[in-house]
Amino acid sequence: MDKTPKRKLKYAEIFANGENKLKYSQGQIVYVKDNKDVWTPATIQSVNDDRLTLILTSKQVVKCKISDVLLRSETNVGDIETLTSLTPLNEATVLCCVNSRYYNQKFYTSAGSTIIALNPFTDVSHLYTDHVIHSYHSNHDQKLPPHIYEIAQEAYSSLVRELGQINQSIIVSGESGAGKTVSAKHLLRYLTKVSNQRVNEDEDQTGKEEKKRGDVIQNKILDSNPILEAFGNAATPRNANSSRFGKYIKLQFNRGGEIVGGVIQTYLLEKTRTVHHGLSEFNFHIFYQMMKETTDVTPWMSSLQADMKTTKFKNLPSNNKELKETRKLAETLAAMTDIGIIDTLQQQVFQLLCGILYIGNIDFTPVDEESSAVEDTLVTSTAMDKASEQLGLSSDQLEKVFLHRNIQSGSKTRRSVFVKPVSIVDAKNRRDCLIMLLYSRLFEWLVDFINREIQADEYHSTIGLLDIYGFEMFETNSLEQLCINYANEKIQQHYVSHFLKDLQKEYELERIEWCSISYTDNQPCLNILEGKQSIFGVLNEEVYLSRKSNKRILGERLLEIGNGTSSAIKKPRKCSGEPSFIVNHYAGEVRYTVDQLVTKNKDNIPVELISLLKSSNNSFIQALFSTYQTVESPGKKKKTVLAKFKSCLDGLMTSLNRSDVHYIRCIKPNTVSQPGVFDRCYVTQQLRASGILETVEICRQGYSARIIYWEFLQRYGLLIPESSSVPVRESTSSSSENDQSFDMDPLDTLFRKQFDLPNAPKRTPTPKKTLRR
Ligand code: ADP
Ligand code: MG
Repeated sequence: MDKTPKRKLKYAEIFANGENKLKYSQGQIVYVKDNKDVWTPATIQSVNDDRLTLILTSKQVVKCKISDVLLRSETNVGDIETLTSLTPLNEATVLCCVNSRYYNQKFYTSAGSTIIALNPFTDVSHLYTDHVIHSYHSNHDQKLPPHIYEIAQEAYSSLVRELGQINQSIIVSGESGAGKTVSAKHLLRYLTKVSNQRVNEDEDQTGKEEKKRGDVIQNKILDSNPILEAFGNAATPRNANSSRFGKYIKLQFNRGGEIVGGVIQTYLLEKTRTVHHGLSEFNFHIFYQMMKETTDVTPWMSSLQADMKTTKFKNLPSNNKELKETRKLAETLAAMTDIGIIDTLQQQVFQLLCGILYIGNIDFTPVDEESSAVEDTLVTSTAMDKASEQLGLSSDQLEKVFLHRNIQSGSKTRRSVFVKPVSIVDAKNRRDCLIMLLYSRLFEWLVDFINREIQADEYHSTIGLLDIYGFEMFETNSLEQLCINYANEKIQQHYVSHFLKDLQKEYELERIEWCSISYTDNQPCLNILEGKQSIFGVLNEEVYLSRKSNKRILGERLLEIGNGTSSAIKKPRKCSGEPSFIVNHYAGEVRYTVDQLVTKNKDNIPVELISLLKSSNNSFIQALFSTYQTVESPGKKKKTVLAKFKSCLDGLMTSLNRSDVHYIRCIKPNTVSQPGVFDRCYVTQQLRASGILETVEICRQGYSARIIYWEFLQRYGLLIPESSSVPVRESTSSSSENDQSFDMDPLDTLFRKQFDLPNAPKRTPTPKKTLRR
């Protein structure tokens, strides 16, 4: 039984509930629900109990229920930079505000302590110049327009001034193509620049040596971007440069707030992309970069390109548009050089990529139901030769590993291994498995290499930037989507619990009057995904028990999890076709297909493949796999994909919980990735799913600025004439509110008297930070 309290008030209802208590009257301006525009302006013509007659701006007269309208403001909502200042504040005014701002080229809007970032889908480089960076960095009092730099500066100031938690994190979230990666790149540039500037400004103390070191580390961190994008991004129907992995980069700072290094953690590279491509889906950018011939490359690259020029690679779906849009190979190579990957290593990396493409061209024919052979065609035989050459193996070795599998028999002490041929399906799976293994290992190696280059030996504090794949909901959803959507649920819960719950609790602690607000709690969904009796539990059990799963029975087992008491999982209405189940995610319902879930969760890599790669004559491949574990330690089960992913995410959540978190919510204004198009239905969907409306409501109900008590008294105490007799502390920055040597009671008493405030509440530790409006 699901014990989590149900607090499922939807946003529109929250506002509608409040507003329905109001009496609507003739002549009042409102918004009314509308299929096309979501909310459309209208004026009340007459009121009859809970029914209203309205005139739309088109002069059309419509009738509706009171619950279908929301109050409208007379002022131009497009001029409002902070959603908390909207009056009335409701879903319709929020939507109209971001809509007007978008058409006025104002892509950032403040929402409590979150920034809403609308994707401009056009060049707005004037928003990110050095001058703009300087404005946000050096600004102390002036209110600048909302910007992601404001968030970066807030994180950086908190870190330098050691307010609240020392470590900071910025979570950039949103749908695929909403602008997370671009925003994260701008944030990275801002943070590396302002923290390196500290060195530049202070030449006397640090000298040229330090400045040089700062520049080197800044460049190396920035160089990691083009490399990881080339190897980890790909074109999808939703984003021509879609990140196919999650990334959390922690920038490391010394006590003086100067950047000294960084470390990158990546999550779940979508390795299946190297072998399967849906309609308008492409392989990773690096393959296309490599195939596009250029003149400004080294001789070994030219000869590789010449070698591949005439071959059509099966795993390289392409069209001209795609090839044009990919970044130049020279740029990736330059970044690799700058980060320290020397020319001979680069050559080995690209030989491996070439080998991977050739493996994809190897095909098989069936011999009988249980065995197969390598296809006797020119394409396959060339591919066999080229692939084995690039991988430092013989074609016989490759053939053997594709066409046979090792079977172990006997007891633990007297184990014998014999070889059994495999069917054509298995041979193809083994080929694809080798491709995925090689590519994912190469990606891991690159990340490790970058980390070794950028990581500092010692640091004082960190700012983490999280750019994680957005919520996914396709026609067919499988284990990849389950993981991605689970990650998004975790982040959402973090947002809800750390922002909404904490703020609410804090107001209660401070005895500030306000009415408690309902919000959507996604714990029931997380229980279904990862709890005791959960989807993860069932899928892991199938792997651990090595059951031959029947997808229909498995589908039924999965549906039993909810026990009919949780609405987080349910049976699809149309039950024909493949067995599937629906998870009610915070951002919408997603239907997952049962087929392949267990196989993908098992991610079985045949031991023979790894042994083969370990024995390669190619030193690079040998090194890649030398430490690769094939046999799990005795008594330990091999971790499933879900188990590994969950423990990675747990680590991430611990890191986030130990830092002050700042949020940027990216919104995609339309599904066609075009500038100047604002799809109100699509945007509303994203606003609802992001929890922004709830945040705004909470911020509005509370106080938009928070100042440490003694700082407040010190700053404003002068307003009270008698305060001159009270000693004022001199230091303003590093002092702690717990510093008992400062007696604030006399000033406090004067204050309370002057403003007729109740007696001081018992002191409870308040967060030591000042919240931005
Ligand atoms: P996500 O990481 O959320 O999937 P991206 O950051 O890759 O999305 O953005 C998708 C595309 O949107 C980019 O390739 C770019 O064309 C456009 N875009 C995103 N943010 C901006 C921006 N701030 N300015 C201009 N174009 C942008
Ligand atoms: Mg991205």
